[in-house]
Amino acid sequence: MSAAINDCIFCKIIAGEIPSKRIYEDEEFLSFLDIFPASRGHSLVIPKKHHEDIHTISADLYGQLATSAKKVADFLQRKLGSEGTTIFQMNREAGWQTVFHIHMHVIPRWSGDSLHKPWDIAPADESELAVLHKLLTE
Ligand code: 5GP
Ligand code: ZN
Repeated sequence: MSAAINDCIFCKIIAGEIPSKRIYEDEEFLSFLDIFPASRGHSLVIPKKHHEDIHTISADLYGQLATSAKKVADFLQRKLGSEGTTIFQMNREAGWQTVFHIHMHVIPRWSGDSLHKPWDIAPADESELAVLHKLLTE
């Protein structure tokens, strides 16, 4: 693997310039344990080629990334006996992304664990939904 050509932390992890605890790897994807885990086994799945986010990666590669995340999710469930899985995938600053090399979070879950949804649950305003729906479908 060639050395990281930029300051991207994840490219450096791929290149072996920064240590990581790898749990899955193939030609194009790598998965390793997150160092600030939301739960036991929280792992990241990344493409080995640098792409920033969902808006710049091809649909095909994004699909392959999701396939890798599924493999990792099934693997973690089998190994850790988790009861559920939450997948997060943040994009750009406004979407809470902090490392700008696209990645999927695979977060093993257990009933009653301490995680909570990052948004408040409130019903939509029906007229706003209707306007939005019109905008999106006309
Ligand atoms: P984001 O906020 O961009 O969706 O997620 C970035 C994730 O990368 C965070 O969960 C953070 O804990 C993780 N992370 C940042 N730096 C490193 C690192 O050097 N090693 C590992 N294993 N995880 C990292
Ligand atoms: Zn990168």
